[in-house]
Amino acid sequence: MPLLESLLRSAVGFVFLFDAGGRIQRWNGNMIPLLEGIRGAAAAPGIREVLGLDPQRDPVGEMCAAGTLVVEGPGLGAPDGDEEIAWVLHRIDGTQHGIAIGLVEPRRKRVEEALERRLRFQQLASTISARFVNLAAREVDREISAGLGLLGEFFQLERCTLVEVQTNTKSYQPLHSWVKTGAAAPLDSHTRQFMPMLTDRIRGGEPYFFRGREEIPHNWVHERRFAEVAGIKAALVVPLKVGGTFLGAFLIDSFTCERDWPSEIVEELRFLGGIFANAVARRRADARLAGSEKRVRMIADALPGLIAYVGGDRRYRFNNQAYEQWHGIAADEVYGKTMREVLGEEVYAQVKPYVDEALTGVPVRYRMDVPLLGEEDTRFIEASYVPHLDPAGQVLGFYSLVQDITDRRAAEMQAQRQRDELAHVTRVATLGELAASMVHELNQPLAAMLSSAQAAVRFLAADPPNLAEVEAALQYIIADDRRASEVVRSLRAFAVKGEHMTQRVEINPLVEEVLFLLRNDASLHNVVVTTDLAPALPPTRGDRVQLQQVLVNLVLNGFEAMAGSGEERELAIRTSLPAPGEVRISVSDTGPGIAPELCEKVFDAFFTTKQAGMGMGLSISRSIAEAHGGSLRAVGGGNPGATFHLTLPPLAEIS
Ligand code: ADP
Repeated sequence: MPLLESLLRSAVGFVFLFDAGGRIQRWNGNMIPLLEGIRGAAAAPGIREVLGLDPQRDPVGEMCAAGTLVVEGPGLGAPDGDEEIAWVLHRIDGTQHGIAIGLVEPRRKRVEEALERRLRFQQLASTISARFVNLAAREVDREISAGLGLLGEFFQLERCTLVEVQTNTKSYQPLHSWVKTGAAAPLDSHTRQFMPMLTDRIRGGEPYFFRGREEIPHNWVHERRFAEVAGIKAALVVPLKVGGTFLGAFLIDSFTCERDWPSEIVEELRFLGGIFANAVARRRADARLAGSEKRVRMIADALPGLIAYVGGDRRYRFNNQAYEQWHGIAADEVYGKTMREVLGEEVYAQVKPYVDEALTGVPVRYRMDVPLLGEEDTRFIEASYVPHLDPAGQVLGFYSLVQDITDRRAAEMQAQRQRDELAHVTRVATLGELAASMVHELNQPLAAMLSSAQAAVRFLAADPPNLAEVEAALQYIIADDRRASEVVRSLRAFAVKGEHMTQRVEINPLVEEVLFLLRNDASLHNVVVTTDLAPALPPTRGDRVQLQQVLVNLVLNGFEAMAGSGEERELAIRTSLPAPGEVRISVSDTGPGIAPELCEKVFDAFFTTKQAGMGMGLSISRSIAEAHGGSLRAVGGGNPGATFHLTLPPLAEIS
């Protein structure tokens, strides 16, 4: 068997022959120390002893059945040594004998251990990342500290610090520091370290380490000093980045001895760094959010109105202090409650339709009386619901702004009452003037009626009676009577509270009407009346009878002023559009005129120069003109006589 012989002479691996009983018969030189080790325990080692097999096992039988049997043997050298022998048992053809060849392999246990460590690392990583999921802002810090502890223990570190790095100032501020119990103090979170070179080195994302301080480059002045002062003998710095943003670093240092940083550990710490970096980013974002939320809250609390945000589930998600005070609920107790719970059944039933509407995405505004907590009376509120929509247009909730406008409404009503009263008082005062002048106003139609009646009597007395003239006189009496009753009606309308009658009034016909009414007076005073009426004048709006009264006053005053004049008694009425937004009726006479200093005085109540005068006509006329949004002015002492301008706004201007 030359092959067997050459195998037995081989210096590679372990080789031995065995018989059907499992007894070892021949072996190569490598087997000698192995067999000696075994002989110490058993006098004649059999195959089971050499392969370290269970006594129950029958390796020869198993080999014969399968032809070849692979067996993992015991370790070589120390029991926990790094190597073990893998045996292959092969049946020698045609015999009950076999040959065993053993080769040294790295110990499977070591591989398993490495695998097991890897598994533990993965568990560590998932434990740490799980701790950072769904954290409230205030819990992030706690979990970062706890995570650092797990990491420090796993890697058997001495100190591990999470530092925030400000890239503009290149300064490092410790946020959380973990130290092995009994080891040196954690890095002080109140100090900032200026480490410009380190910052530039790691900001790209690559870790940096030194195994001993002499490895720190000489020009890294600040870094060297920091390591010396802090007693750091070796360190690994793992940058923390999220996306492209450089947030900070793990500072892992050793201060008892110098140490190596195997690439495996660096990679694992880098991996964990990613998890921490996300947490730090969250912490920063939360801090920013908390800051802006705080500002919003401060502003909301400073406002007197009731402010709340209600989610789609009709539960409060935000409210200001005023909201709690109004509802008599302790601070922080509105949050999470439903509107029904906070407002109570009765009020909720009232506001529910508006809530329903706001939750369809429509802004709502309403006013309503609501009972005030613990008080008899109700308050009047104005509420606005502003829906909150997501970018897809889904309604997420609504903002509720409620104001107690009870006092405002009371003040508004009071002001309105005062305005009404004032207007009424003014009207009553004017009414007083009117009442005083009623005689004055009625005098004219009454006098006209009297003269018409006298004329009628005369025409009847004639022989034969002039019936046509009698009829005409009676028609005048009827017209004058109507006018007298209109004066009275207008006076009553004026005195009644509320809007007085307004109607469209054409200017030129108004003048014609007045001249018709005063036709007798004109002839009595021997006055020539001329008119110059502008065509296409816009109408005005007002009380036609009142405006007639004004004109009647002006015309009669003119007649009276000319009573003492010579032959040239002329009264001219002109209508015009002196300026946009003004229609004007001007009444001029050829009387003595009015002295310039009296041009305003003539409008004072009771100013008169006439023996039987009351001095009310112009005063009332100006009141009426102003009530119509116009004016009445006198232009005095010219030749000829006086001119009065009644200026009114055209209808288009008013409406
Ligand atoms: P009364 O006619 O009762 O005196 P008015 O208020 O109508 O009251 O007039 C006040 C005064 O204004 C008159 O007494 C008169 O002195 C003066 N006046 C009014 N119209 C004219 C006029 N056309 N020309 C001159 N004076 C006038």
